[in-house]
Amino acid sequence: MLWLPLGPFHAMENQMLVIRIKIPNSGAVDWTVHSGPQLLFRDVLDVIGQVLPEATTTAFEYEDEDGDRITVRSDEEMKAMLSYYYSTVMEQQVNGQLIEPLLIFPRACKPPGERNIHGLKVNTRAGPSQHSGPAVSDSLPSNSLKKSSAELKKILANGQMNEQDIRYRDTLGHGNGGTVYKAYHVPSGKILAVKVILLDITLELQKQIMSELEILYKCDSSYIIGFYGAFFVENRISICTEFMDGGSLDVYRKIPEHVLGRIAVAVVKGLTYLWSLKILHRDVKPSNMLVNTRGQVKLCDFGVSTQLVNSIAKTYVGTNAYMAPERISGEQYGIHSDVWSLGISFMELALGRFPYPQIQKNQGSLMPLQLLQCIVDEDSPVLPVGEFSEPFVHFITQCMRKQPKERPAPEELMAWASQGSAAEAAGLRASR
Ligand code: ATP
Ligand code: MG
Repeated sequence: MLWLPLGPFHAMENQMLVIRIKIPNSGAVDWTVHSGPQLLFRDVLDVIGQVLPEATTTAFEYEDEDGDRITVRSDEEMKAMLSYYYSTVMEQQVNGQLIEPLLIFPRACKPPGERNIHGLKVNTRAGPSQHSGPAVSDSLPSNSLKKSSAELKKILANGQMNEQDIRYRDTLGHGNGGTVYKAYHVPSGKILAVKVILLDITLELQKQIMSELEILYKCDSSYIIGFYGAFFVENRISICTEFMDGGSLDVYRKIPEHVLGRIAVAVVKGLTYLWSLKILHRDVKPSNMLVNTRGQVKLCDFGVSTQLVNSIAKTYVGTNAYMAPERISGEQYGIHSDVWSLGISFMELALGRFPYPQIQKNQGSLMPLQLLQCIVDEDSPVLPVGEFSEPFVHFITQCMRKQPKERPAPEELMAWASQGSAAEAAGLRASR
């Protein structure tokens, strides 16, 4: 149990402290802390997270002697609050009064909305603001805490991303290579997604990975997840990126075609951007397509660091079910292989199941190689005509041609994506 009923105690003697967490529009929860003075800001946020699991709390407040609310969002501010509180405790002790608990008021951001497949907002047209830098939609309510993207970029450019400044919060998911956490970056006051991967590799390889990741600072597209920095601590690498509050597309199951078409336009734009930088994605699949409540769709987890990809592959065995047939057969990998993965991903999202019924993807996308042999041997699956529009079926069929060269080239994909955007714009105009 984290909290106990409140009773009289001598805070200064046994270092105990009772924090009363006020729950908005309802009562309060008392939390007994045994080593009050050592308490860190993050510990308090963690407990608030358990008390108010629906809300994203990034700060809390307490009241001073005049009843004014003071915000706490760092260890320094915690210290100030505790020393103020202990001084009031001393006073209460001297006057023989009952010691009051430390009352705090969690300051929550908007609670995340219910995941609603059909309410999914998709905005594939980049407005000017989308180009202005990494967008973190989950910023704090307080103006004093809001840092501009430019400021965040400056912090990051100075290489200030490090473990000490990060407060890990919820777990967003586990993948084949690591775990992704929602985290709070104290200096910028921003919420990030941090992917932590255990890698037992030499210092030399660690350095190589860090330098290979450098190119991510240059990636600047509304269709690519913002990269904030990476660091090694002992044998784990933490990769900090933009947090996407809608999560990845794999959880949305069957997505209606009209929504999917718009998502596909964003994914194609993201891929062509990467290819223009000579980066192959290498891991296109629904769990690497992220969405946010601003309607943006962004790609993540692309193989920018060969060394990182190799090191993960050595540790985690299996073959990715979204891989193109030529890749499963161990042949050369190119842009066309990314195009296959794009096609099979969208076929899965349209059908609401993996397109090869004989392949059961239970957990994750890594499978024993033999099970994927049917992708190499059999004809590609085709979307049922009648259930989906002809252009959509054609698009997927083209992407999933067994012969890599027969799949659409980047220019063709872009032409298709622009048509999609134009059709969308026309549709919008017509509906106005
Ligand atoms: P793999 O390890 O092969 O990439 P994966 O994509 O399923 O598999 P992770 O990349 O570790 O696994 O991601 C785990 C989950 O974390 C994802 O499914 C997604 O829901 C969530 N996630 C990842 N990155 C972010 C992000 N930037 N914002 C929000 N959620 C994220
Ligand atoms: Mg991933």
